Amino acid sequence: MASPTDIEAAARALREGQLVAFPTETVYGLGADATNGEAVARVYAAKGRPSFNPLIAHVPDAEAAFALGAFSPEAKALASAFWPGPVSLVVPRAADCPVSLLASAGLDSIAIRVPSHPVALELLKATGRPVVAPSANPSGKISPTTAEHVRRHLKDKVAVVLDGGHCKVGVESTVVSFLADGPRLLRHGGVPKAEIEKVLGHAIAAQSHSARPHAPGQLLSHYAPHAELRLNAQAPREGEAYLGFGPLHAYGPWTLSATGDLVEAAASLFRLLHEIDATGVARIAVAPIPHQGLGEAINDRLMRAAAPRTA
Ligand code: AMP
Ligand code: MG
Repeated sequence: MASPTDIEAAARALREGQLVAFPTETVYGLGADATNGEAVARVYAAKGRPSFNPLIAHVPDAEAAFALGAFSPEAKALASAFWPGPVSLVVPRAADCPVSLLASAGLDSIAIRVPSHPVALELLKATGRPVVAPSANPSGKISPTTAEHVRRHLKDKVAVVLDGGHCKVGVESTVVSFLADGPRLLRHGGVPKAEIEKVLGHAIAAQSHSARPHAPGQLLSHYAPHAELRLNAQAPREGEAYLGFGPLHAYGPWTLSATGDLVEAAASLFRLLHEIDATGVARIAVAPIPHQGLGEAINDRLMRAAAPRTA
């Protein structure tokens, strides 16, 4: 079982941008400082996820959650009924939300949870920053419910594995969104839908069919810039902004990574797309990104952002 000294060391590692596996009551999480884009990028790299899906930011109490997003009275009611516990709430990001845009996969919403496992709570308090923590398993493998499961696959990728025994709940958190279309159940999990409806006093819709992911991580309502994207572009054409990869170029101020580092590129991706979009340019030409490591996830997001819009 993790000692206070282990937890302190893990908090330090998180603040330095390293990855830490820790127990929650649902499953073990692969944690990173949510405010550090490169640390978040390393989570996707360690899991070998071929796609960026939004991650849940974990905080030690509701007050810390309310600083990250805009909670409606109904969202607050669920927070006070189920936190700490296995419910994640998706709300609009606060204007000054410090969580990396990569953790939100470029969306203007954020998923937040207060876990109840004592080791998780102590770690979050000691870290003093929101911590993203998807399940600590390689992509495609089952979620870990003991420290030994985590060590088997991810030992070399994390600075610390905190041991907190068996996860009591053993399935992921229930995810409920409170966005413009009203409350929706995005994922079944540790708290049954009926219990959530009891607190709200009315039934909630499941995610609308058109927006339902085909597989985990395949949210159809993904981030897309207003500008049209042209991929694998060696140079911009007339009227296009250019997003490079590698040393700064003659076509403007934007490169995903001047040194050609895919971790830095992943961390910058959504921020730079937002920044270029804000100039009001109609088209963005994007340099070729090597299709290896995190490059696969970057190319996946770019391809979706470039795909024809369904309005
Ligand atoms: P995990 O962190 O692996 O437990 O899974 C996080 C899940 O939360 C994802 O599969 C998403 O469905 C959901 N999620 C997280 N953030 C958002 C968001 N901003 N909008 C919609 N769904 C989200
Ligand atoms: Mg998982």
